[in-house]
Amino acid sequence: MQDKTHDAMIITDADAWRSRDLAVLWHPCTQMREHPDTLPLLPIERGEGAWLVGYDGRRYLDAISSWWTNLFGHAEPRIAAAIARQASTLEHVILAGCSHAPAVELAERLLAIAPREAGREPLAKVFYADNGSAGVEVALKMAFHWFRNRGEMQRTKFIALENGYHGETIGALAVGDIPLYRRVYAPLLAEALFAPSPDSYLCEPGESPAQRASRAAAGLRELLERHAGEICALILEPLVQCAGGMRMHDPSYLRLARELCDAHGVFLIADEIAVGFGRTGTLFASEQAGVQPDLLCLSKGLTGGSLPLAAVLTTQRIYDGFLDDSRDRAFLHSHSYTGNPLACAAALAAQGIFESDGVIERNRNTAAVMRELAQPFAEHAHVADVRQTGMIVAFELTKNGDKRTPFDPAARVGLHAYRSAVANGVLLRPLGDILYWMPPYCVDHAALRQLAQVTRIAIDEATACA
Ligand SMILES: *Cc1c(COP(=O)(O)O)cnc(C)c1O
Repeated sequence: MQDKTHDAMIITDADAWRSRDLAVLWHPCTQMREHPDTLPLLPIERGEGAWLVGYDGRRYLDAISSWWTNLFGHAEPRIAAAIARQASTLEHVILAGCSHAPAVELAERLLAIAPREAGREPLAKVFYADNGSAGVEVALKMAFHWFRNRGEMQRTKFIALENGYHGETIGALAVGDIPLYRRVYAPLLAEALFAPSPDSYLCEPGESPAQRASRAAAGLRELLERHAGEICALILEPLVQCAGGMRMHDPSYLRLARELCDAHGVFLIADEIAVGFGRTGTLFASEQAGVQPDLLCLSKGLTGGSLPLAAVLTTQRIYDGFLDDSRDRAFLHSHSYTGNPLACAAALAAQGIFESDGVIERNRNTAAVMRELAQPFAEHAHVADVRQTGMIVAFELTKNGDKRTPFDPAARVGLHAYRSAVANGVLLRPLGDILYWMPPYCVDHAALRQLAQVTRIAIDEATACA
């Protein structure tokens, strides 16, 4: 196979990188058997705004913001400069016993912009970790440990939502409900309880998203009552279950969940790792329901998509629960790179861009253009649902364009759509048969029009043969 193509043409730099890569690398979230034949590997030389440029000079619109991390475009000059400046001053220092300006300033900044609810004590402390999953582990351990410190030893369980996702480490996977990632490791995972998802896609005929939300909340109430005194926290992704297929729900669910958590003395952990920092139209998704969590997990867009970093924000009350003369009661969790100065400097630069560029305002326009471009897809014979929350648009493909008849997974509709889009200069990465747009905020209208055209072709081609 390979010989045939190589005989026919000059080996490009891209080809050379492809074969060197496959000789040594094991890629994330990939059945490696599918490289190189089923899936084209894309060696990327550089990024420019919303675009990625391959070693062969081909350009791809990064329609998924490189796994939802990128906010302001690739190689953003202000973020790059902040990292460079920090790198020549202090690249890293242990954060146990030491302190540095980027970690302090970022914490001050995050606490100042965090969701706030009248009458509730504000988020007041920041604990750093170095990726989203690690941030989730921190939040889970903190919630559990807080109750333990109070002598509530029987509070050992977490409630999560069906179809939710919180990362890949063993603890985070335990509160995730996506079989593709979870199934194999199930025997290793701590037990979690799953409450019904408020997902609007699951509305019964005639049911509104708000009604669906309230029905899901009734399921949550039942679970909390059945396990009264055994639960540490409820963890959820506010407004959009991203890895679960960009499934969206009514903000009223968050309000109801907040009230139920309060009534049962259970912490609410908002995992805004994917939806935070403007993705849903507001800086944080929780704001749209006027809800403040007890623990807020942030990562992905935190550094504008430049460096790995996570932050867990929590209240003074939770922090105080660990203060004691005994080390056993302290939160001894740590990562070598906790609060890395480079990552914190990048995050501070990203925060500066939100302010100086009026990003949330600008996104309102961009989201309106996305809405206009997405609407016509609803008429497509194989599109069962077009949904949008802010800067996220998703298209759910099914056999007959209704919700009851999914495509046969063996038809690999999403994979065909991916290949079609890549051939036309757009990096889409469907979740099963769900295509979505989640571009960097700097994407311009011309690129969005191209994205819509390429998506249309991808859906036509992928569904034609299925
Ligand atoms: C991506 C994601 C995570 C995990 O973050 P990583 O940095 O990939 O470990 C956790 N929760 C949500 C909601 C996510 O989307």
